[in-house]
Formats: sequence, structure tokens, C-alpha cells
Amino acid sequence: MANTITIGEWEVSGLHYIDGRRIGSAGHFDLFSPIDLRSLGTVALGGADEVDLAVTAAARAFPAWAGLGAEGRLPYLKRFAEEIGNRAEALCLAEATDAGVLLSRMQHGIVPRAMLNITFFAEAALTLQDKVIETAQATHHVRHDPAGVCAIITPWNAPLMLSTWKAGPALAAGNTVIIKPPEWAPLTCSLLADAAAAAELPPGVFNVVQGTGAITGAALVADRRVARISFTGSVETARTIAQVAGANLTPCSLELGGKSPFIVLADADLDAAAATGALMYRNATQVCLAGTRFLVHESILGAFVEKMRALVAQLVIGDPRDPMTEVGPIIHPRQIERVTGFVERAQQTGAELLWGGGRDDFGDLYYQPTMLTGVAQDSEIVQAEVFGPVLVLQSFACDDEAIALANDSRYGLGGVCFGETDHAKAVADRVRTGFIWVNSFGIRDLAAPFGGCRDSGIGREGGEWSFEFFSDIKDVVVPKQPFKPSFSHR
Ligand code: NAD
Repeated sequence: MANTITIGEWEVSGLHYIDGRRIGSAGHFDLFSPIDLRSLGTVALGGADEVDLAVTAAARAFPAWAGLGAEGRLPYLKRFAEEIGNRAEALCLAEATDAGVLLSRMQHGIVPRAMLNITFFAEAALTLQDKVIETAQATHHVRHDPAGVCAIITPWNAPLMLSTWKAGPALAAGNTVIIKPPEWAPLTCSLLADAAAAAELPPGVFNVVQGTGAITGAALVADRRVARISFTGSVETARTIAQVAGANLTPCSLELGGKSPFIVLADADLDAAAATGALMYRNATQVCLAGTRFLVHESILGAFVEKMRALVAQLVIGDPRDPMTEVGPIIHPRQIERVTGFVERAQQTGAELLWGGGRDDFGDLYYQPTMLTGVAQDSEIVQAEVFGPVLVLQSFACDDEAIALANDSRYGLGGVCFGETDHAKAVADRVRTGFIWVNSFGIRDLAAPFGGCRDSGIGREGGEWSFEFFSDIKDVVVPKQPFKPSFSHR
């Protein structure tokens, strides 16, 4: 069949999944692997017609799915998670092949998390109680009603994790969903559709329309029948989507980029800080929440740099399917050009290399873990998100200076702060971001809020915040005394 992509011993469909069926399109786009630029085949490119079919199917399926209630939806969603687990091997290999994500990370982190994204919210929905507000006059029953058809748009660096992070709560809350996967890494979302079919989710409840942002994504967000848009990606795309959503008054949740501070205080455990610092190169730093601006107290600067340099020198760059690999490829030739440009321009304006600074011999799309210093606070390399393995290092003399530097950014996604725990916590409290890790990195819980400030996004997802976004909050008011209609009644 055309539009079938072979990944190892697995066949992955490059077609859409709409209304419980695989369908193709007149158009398609080419897919290749960042591991070695090998062509993987073609994927259907959805246009206005396919988006219309998907929204129509999702709207048709909505009342019955919403009507099942959280208890009725639970067995479907549990089966969905199981079917994701049944495809673990294919999912791991697919995302390692099309996105270059480490296979070991897929196996031990992302696939289990994708399953949990579905089961956690399916179970949490059971405990969503009406909030009751009692007043002298009335009882207010505050309900979460399903909102309708939800559009989910995800980026290439974590398509499986982010698609399930959004689809989990949307479905659990009684909505139907349409996923528009990233065109550079569309395969795991296609496998998710197989899992949905095997779990016998009713036709139209879970749909995948493949295609580009400019054509497919744009048509989806412009459809007035879409009740919610949950988007993760770049600031630039978010601005375009927000304009369209604004015209339609469609609520959006926007999880965007970051340039997060990694603060090392004078009283930090330098071994732990340096080891965590080296971890920022995982996935070639194509990770929104990575700490990429190192702010290190001047008294420990030299010692910290030498410890981190020694660890970075040992990082294994290579094929993401190799279990020994720690740093894989950059996703696309355009992206590695972008990374290279950032480093060249920084050097032209006086930045110095502490390590790295060029392409790696392993292959066309591999870039060395890089650290730049001697950078001005208002320079491009300090202010812009690179989304590649390029970090910057600055020093500070006191907490106030560290906090001022940390907060001097259009971004406000996350952060890391190493130091004596109370000290680090006090500094972290003053950093203006959506989250910050003290003496740690990457600890997430599905019940906790996730999202950013300023250019890093609008809204929070996770736990109750996801349910709030994916629901229409309604107040059902029941009076305590017989109601007497009166024009003077207030
Ligand atoms: P991108 O904005 O280019 O694309 C993201 C998605 O939007 C893709 O599916 C794309 O096809 C789609 N899209 C593009 N134009 C569109 C349009 N006009 N209408 C509708 N959809 C459109 O981002 P990317 O390059 O794929 O991903 C990298 C970015 O994502 C980085 O900035 C990174 O920081 C961010 N990111 C953020 C988080 C987070 O949770 N905050 C997580 C991962 C990645």
C-alpha cells in the first residue's frame, strides 16, 4: 500500500485516521530519518477536505462519548493505554527513527509515560466532583462539562509524550480529539491511531490528520466547530494560531519555548550540579524545559566549569538506537543550519567557546555539545532559544544579580537551581517561570501544573488544570427557598 513506512520489522501507516478508518490524500510529503538522512517514504498531506471530515466525525461522535460519563469511558481508555503498551517496541523505534529521540529514553521514559498520560487522567476524571458553593439563597453546583471537539497540535521533539499528555485529559473529560502531528516526526501519532482502533474507541472519538502546519494545522485551528486548541511548539506559530483562535474566540492552551536559567549557587554540590548540567545535552538539547543559560557564582566558576567539561567530554554521540548513545542527531538539515548560525554569530560578537562549537564527525546532522561564555546579557545567544546542544555560561556575584539575570528574558518556562536546599529554594521562589527544579531536574507529576510565563506560553496543563482547560465550567444554581419572580429581585 502507498504511504506505508517500514521501521525495522514494523509497518507504520502514513495515512490519516479519521472516523475509525485509514484514508489517504491526493497530496503527500516526504519523510526521512535524521540518523542518516535515509528516505523513509511518504506521508499523506491533509487539506481542508480531510480536516472537514475529521471535525465532522469528531463532532458527530461527541455527544455519545460525552454521555458515557467518566466511568463509561474508563474501560475504553484503559484498553487504549494497554494497546499503546502492546506497540511499545514499534513506538520506540519509530520515534528514534523519525525524530532521533534516544531509543533507551523511549523505552524507559516516554512509552511508560504515554500510557500513564491516558490512565492517570481517565482515573482522575472519576474523582472530578461538582464543587458545591452554599449561600443563604442557593446551592451552586459547579460542574465540568465536556467542551466538544479538541484540536491537538504537537512539535517534533516529543510527539508521543505531548500527544498523549493532551489527548489523555481531553478524552477523559468527555471530548473528542483530532491530532495534527508534526510533519518531521509523524510516525508515533500514526501508531497511536492503531492503538485507538485496537482499543475499539468509537469511530470519530480519536482522529489523526497528517500534514504540514501551514496547510493542515492552519485549516484545523480555523474551523469554528473546534472547541479547544491545545498547542505545543514555537512562539512564532503560537502567535499565528492565537490570531486565528482570537477571531473565532476559541480557547487555546499554548506551551511554548524556553531559555531557562540553570543557577549554581556558591554553596551547591558541584558534582551533582555538573552531572545535571551535562544532562542538558540529552536529545541534543531539543528539549523545551532544558536549562540552557548557566548562571554560576563567581567563587566556584572555575571548579564548576572543569567538572562539567570532564563529564561532557565523556558523552557518547551517536545513533539514537544504540543503547550506549547519550546525544543523538539534530532533527533536520534546516535545524542544524540554524544551530550553526547561532554559534557563528555569537563568536562574531565576542563569545568564546569553552567546548564544542561545530558539527560532529558521526554524521551530517550531529552537533557537538557546546558551551559559550563571554556573552552579553542582551545578545542573541543569551536571549534566543537555540533548540540544539548549545548552552551559554555567565557568572554572578550575589543572589540578587543571579535572579536579575535569570528573569531578564522574554521566556519564562522553567529553571534549575543548585545550592544548599533552603538557600536554593529561596532563590527559586524569586525566579519568574512556570516551574523550577531545586537540586534536581525533570521531576514531573501528572497532577502538577505545567506551562510557562510570558513568551513561554498561556495557560497550564496537568492535573486539575488540564480538566479546567478541556471543560466548560458550568454553575447549576438551585434556590433554597421557593423562588418569587420579581423585577426588583437581584
Ligand atoms: P513549530 O511551532 O514549528 O510546530 C509545532 C506544530 O505546529 C507542528 O505540528 C506544526 O506543523 C504546527 N504548525 C505550524 N504552523 C501552524 C499553523 N499556522 N497552524 C497550525 N499549526 C501549525 O514548532 P517545532 O519546531 O515543531 O517545535 C519546537 C518548538 O516547540 C520549540 O520552540 C520548543 O521549545 C517548543 N516546545 C515546547 C514545549 C513545552 O511544553 N513548552 C515542549 C516541546 C517543544
